[in-house]
Amino acid sequence: MNDPTASCLFCRILRGEIPSRKVYEDENVFAFEDINPQAPTHVLIIPKKHFAGLKEAQVEDAELIGQCHLAAAEIARERKIEHGYRTVLNVGPGAGQSVFHLHVHLLGGRSLRWPPG
Ligand code: 5GP
Ligand code: ZN
Repeated sequence: MNDPTASCLFCRILRGEIPSRKVYEDENVFAFEDINPQAPTHVLIIPKKHFAGLKEAQVEDAELIGQCHLAAAEIARERKIEHGYRTVLNVGPGAGQSVFHLHVHLLGGRSLRWPPG
């Protein structure tokens, strides 16, 4: 009991318990289409290892967080959205984090305003 991965939405997607539209996968990283896209490209990139978010990340997670971003760059290349895209980590409920398994949003395919809301 008390296994945080049991009820974690993104761990359930990783286990195939909840369907997703896979975009990319390697040994450490999985990427899938966001269910409620905010741009023509809106992909979520997650480490296969569960941790809640950037606040909870440990030194040993640094490479995984980097791998998620490099996967985002690769997907952006494949999608030909390199004129301008954004990678976003929402950290904490006040910033809109609603799923507590670290995920990088890749947003692109339209012009993006700054600062974000
Ligand atoms: P957050 O708000 O935590 O930064 O991002 C969570 C993201 O997960 C949201 O953009 C939301 O649309 C997406 N999401 C929530 N539930 C599901 C789901 O069941 N499947 C997929 N593919 N995306 C989801
Ligand atoms: Zn998880």
